[in-house]
Amino acid sequence: MTTKGYNPYETARAQFDQVAEILNLDEGTRELLRNTQREYHFNIPVRMDDGSVKVFRGFRSQHSDARGPSKGGIRFHPEETVDTVRALSMWMTWKCAVVDIPLGGGKGGIICDPHNLSATEQERLCRGWVRQLAKNVGPVSDVPAPDVMTNPQHMLWMLDEYEVVSGGKYPGFITGKPVGMGGSLGRTEATGYGVIYTVREALKEMNIKPEDTKASFQGFGNVSQYAIQLYTKLGGKAICVSCWDQTDKKAYAFKKSDGICLDELLGITDKFGTINKDKAKDLGYEILDGNAWLEQDVDILVPAALENQINGDTVHKISSNVKIIAEGANGPTSLEADKVIKEKNIHLIPDFLANAGGVTCSYFEQVQCNTNYFWPKEEVLTKLDTKMTAAYKAVSELSKDKSLYMRDAAYVIAIDRVVQACKLRGWV
Ligand code: NAD
Repeated sequence: MTTKGYNPYETARAQFDQVAEILNLDEGTRELLRNTQREYHFNIPVRMDDGSVKVFRGFRSQHSDARGPSKGGIRFHPEETVDTVRALSMWMTWKCAVVDIPLGGGKGGIICDPHNLSATEQERLCRGWVRQLAKNVGPVSDVPAPDVMTNPQHMLWMLDEYEVVSGGKYPGFITGKPVGMGGSLGRTEATGYGVIYTVREALKEMNIKPEDTKASFQGFGNVSQYAIQLYTKLGGKAICVSCWDQTDKKAYAFKKSDGICLDELLGITDKFGTINKDKAKDLGYEILDGNAWLEQDVDILVPAALENQINGDTVHKISSNVKIIAEGANGPTSLEADKVIKEKNIHLIPDFLANAGGVTCSYFEQVQCNTNYFWPKEEVLTKLDTKMTAAYKAVSELSKDKSLYMRDAAYVIAIDRVVQACKLRGWV
């Protein structure tokens, strides 16, 4: 999970320390928020299909619940680390605060590789994780969700175990459930659409019509596909998209200067987001090197695949015509590249704002579950648009007023909201 030498918790703390300086926070507040509020580390004994018992290590970190119940995913990964979970829980606190939803930050994990576990072993692992934590999580304290290598089925097993232990029906305990079993309509679209709601607002501020713009996307999974769908619907022209090729073990970019056709590409894409390059060639696409998505002469770049993609080596390849970078992925830009983007005066919509549509919709799922009343998809997406637009505008206004880089403005707003909650509660 953590690349050698890189500790995400150190990065998260360094980012916090920087903003603490800008906000001139006192020592007590800094101490409170640069550390996780609460965390749990535990063993999960699982009876394997062959009758043996295997013990897995599980974690849950609750960074802050000053603004509401902690919220954040559960990851299954063989190289999961406590510090990764801690950092991610801190980032969740800021993400929920920047979109102003009444939730704090949490994250959980189990060191395991689900590829090597049968479905029944995975079910027992999910139930074991909940049994260890049932008293410390729940709809009014900490609400988990799917993340790396966990899915709606895992969430439902976890919910079922929680309800058995708690003796009642609590669908608001966990989000990311299947639609029809407490899941929310619109969750599939939420992150990609959220990215484009913020891009649309940025274009409005620049007095540019979406139909006069072109964009290039990295990744062709959930976030990218729905971002392309909405961007195209608004009139924009997506000309390039890249993805990872499982067979060749490298990335390729697919380009059509007069605009890619989403449905056409979806028809030749597998469930992992890999586009079939032979079929794409037959459809008239140019097949380019994986990094080509970033070198296109476009107005908008949307990295929506992996972390650290715009870095010291690649940032100088960005065309001078690029006006907006909307970070769909988490952490796609390195610190070094961030400085260059700032100097080039490209309008950056930072990850924890741009991709917050997902957690915002999870919050809507929780609200619907807690009231046991489910909204039509249009209502979910309209509410999502309202939230994302308001969040974008607040960050953009602060950025202009105080001449702050957009990423710094977003952090200032988010951290200040959490600080105010701590102060109002009398904690600091
Ligand atoms: P996904 O698994 O659905 O799709 C990932 C895509 O990236 C695939 O098309 C894959 O081929 C491509 N990819 C992988 N390596 C690549 C490379 N080297 N070059 C080009 N493409 C590559 O994932 P997703 O859900 O779309 O998530 C994408 C990013 O957005 C991740 O950083 C994730 O953490 C972040 N994110 C997702 C959500 C969500 O709701 N899905 C919410 C917030 C943040």
